[in-house]
Amino acid sequence: MISHHLDQTMLLDYASGGMSHSLSLITATHLALCPACRRDVEALEAVGGAMLDETVGGEVRGNAFEDLMARIEAGAGQVSVPQTAQPTGVEIDHLPRPLRDHIPLHNGKLRWGRQGPIETIFLPCDDPGHRVRLLRIAPGKGAPQHSHRGLELTLVLQGSFHDETGQFGPGDIEVADPDLDHRPIADEGVPCLCLAVTTAPLRLTGPLGRLIDPFLTI
Ligand SMILES: [Zn+2]
Repeated sequence: MISHHLDQTMLLDYASGGMSHSLSLITATHLALCPACRRDVEALEAVGGAMLDETVGGEVRGNAFEDLMARIEAGAGQVSVPQTAQPTGVEIDHLPRPLRDHIPLHNGKLRWGRQGPIETIFLPCDDPGHRVRLLRIAPGKGAPQHSHRGLELTLVLQGSFHDETGQFGPGDIEVADPDLDHRPIADEGVPCLCLAVTTAPLRLTGPLGRLIDPFLTI
């Protein structure tokens, strides 16, 4: 049961093609797991398409927008939702399709960058300042206390983590901005597998973090 979703502004950005590649990737991966957000995006795309149809060859009529909204709401329950498999393990075949196609493989397998409580695979990223990472976090471990210089989106693929705002399980996505200061920790059980996108380096805010923050780019 997914309880943490993307807000309407982000879904509209995605539907209108206004998002960076990195944010589009994590959004598309959440959509592959979340029928509720998928339905919202389909409705937004329908509104966009209908708006285009209405404006072709002339100006928008005075009440065209209201007409379209009524039409969309009337038809919202009929939107067909494709079924996708839920990820059950860390094998590549179990990852949602939009993500699977972007992960660099070595001999068909995931190759984690570093052994330890937090293992990382960097995904190719051409958005300036962005980082896209697959993280595997051991139970009870997590990131140091930090805030954000931009956005940090974290999508859980397996296991779960918690922070000051709540608990995040498979399919849940957390959107953290400069107003949030948190310390995400993986819950007990299986390692927490996440896709994380940052649009700017994090800002370490714990007592030790404040000392080393100027020398780090996380
Ligand atoms: Zn959702």
